[in-house]
Amino acid sequence: MTTPTRGADAALAYLRDHADEHLKGLDDLLRIPSVSADPELRDECRRAARWVADELTRIGADHALLTDTSSHPIVTADWLHAGPDKPTVLIYCHYDVQPTDPLDEWVRPPFEPRYENDIVYARGSGDDKGQLFMHIKAAEAWIRGAGGSPVNLRFFFEGDEEHDSRPSEHFVANHPELLQADICLVSDSDMADDDGTPAITYGLRGIAYWDVKVSGPMQDLHSGQFGGGVDNPATVLVQMLASLVDADGRCTVPGFYDRVRDLTDADRAAYAAQPFDAEDWAQRIGVSGPKDGERGYTLLERMSGRPTFDINGLSGGYSGEGSKTIIPAWAAAKISTRLVPDQDHLEIERAMIKHLEAIAPPTVEVTVTPIQGGQPLVTPLDHPGCLLAARALEKAFGKAPLFHRSGGSIPVVAAMDTLLGLKSVMVGFASPNGNFHSPNEWMPLANYRGGMDALVHLWDELGGVTPGELRGT
Ligand SMILES: [Zn+2]
Repeated sequence: MTTPTRGADAALAYLRDHADEHLKGLDDLLRIPSVSADPELRDECRRAARWVADELTRIGADHALLTDTSSHPIVTADWLHAGPDKPTVLIYCHYDVQPTDPLDEWVRPPFEPRYENDIVYARGSGDDKGQLFMHIKAAEAWIRGAGGSPVNLRFFFEGDEEHDSRPSEHFVANHPELLQADICLVSDSDMADDDGTPAITYGLRGIAYWDVKVSGPMQDLHSGQFGGGVDNPATVLVQMLASLVDADGRCTVPGFYDRVRDLTDADRAAYAAQPFDAEDWAQRIGVSGPKDGERGYTLLERMSGRPTFDINGLSGGYSGEGSKTIIPAWAAAKISTRLVPDQDHLEIERAMIKHLEAIAPPTVEVTVTPIQGGQPLVTPLDHPGCLLAARALEKAFGKAPLFHRSGGSIPVVAAMDTLLGLKSVMVGFASPNGNFHSPNEWMPLANYRGGMDALVHLWDELGGVTPGELRGT
């Protein structure tokens, strides 16, 4: 392992010397009720954005700017004095938080931070204001404590992450000049456990989501008079949907797997290294065990490294009390697929529509309406961003991180990958049990301190490679 540079030592010492003052700053930020989904707290979201922008200016960043969106403002700033031969890192976090109800389950009000046993309890302590604040302080430690950062920094902090991905996706499409970088560091996730094992998320699944409607007769019909003579749209719909998955759990849409990139040996080793107890997992979600899945893949691999098909909702016909003997005029479903590299959500959309139209009997009409789409992404495990982040985390926490891919989708990260060609490494410092989105959200202060040290080390490590090495050019 490389030893920290003198600059890193100065930055780390700065964090120690200013620890009390920084904790006070975190407390100030956590007190702003920036709930993005609540229209009544619109001004508070703006106040949080302003607070963040002012803080960025105070630590020595340039061009701190609020850009208005259809919802809450986006905060950007930069510090580009490391020189053109040094990499530029884009830092992404969000300053908005989830709603706080049920309020009576909080030990203390959600925006009055409580400190106990080296833990801070407050809405946003882990997700994600605490992590955003850590990034500002790690940058400050370099700029103020060491006289400058070894990498160029850009900041991209949004205020709609918890309720609407469109403002930030729109921003990525329309302001590439504010986001130009060689790699993106996303901190909005957690460590591997509460024993100080760090984690790096290096992939996300994509998504494609549709409404499917099967229409038959012009109105509901008496099943005694017409049953046996008319195709029932509800029966047709469930038959069609059931045929989309075969006995091995694979999606039957032609071409669905054409572009799926196989898991590498390194991917499979990373999956195997995850501590995971399938029995405990099943018990926590109230099922007797995992489903029979795609052959040749472990449960964890199936849940984030392989694509899936799901029915998310069904409607149509009569579902009130008692019986109503009808052949419904229509039936509908919401369906979705989770996608992995290199599947393309638009290509999957075309394939799905074509297939559903092909398998529908001619006696009904099928309409498929796309609702949502996002691309999958993976940053290869041997990408220098992953390798250097692992080294920095190990220096700060004394333990090598676990690497994992997430089964979910973060549209803004996908947009940066697709629209800007920007690879992301996701390094989070919250607790995996930290009550994200629930009452009494908490953040271990050991993670907060270790996380800032890790960021100091990471900028140090990244300062040792060229922009081209990060971009793979
Ligand atoms: Zn978050």
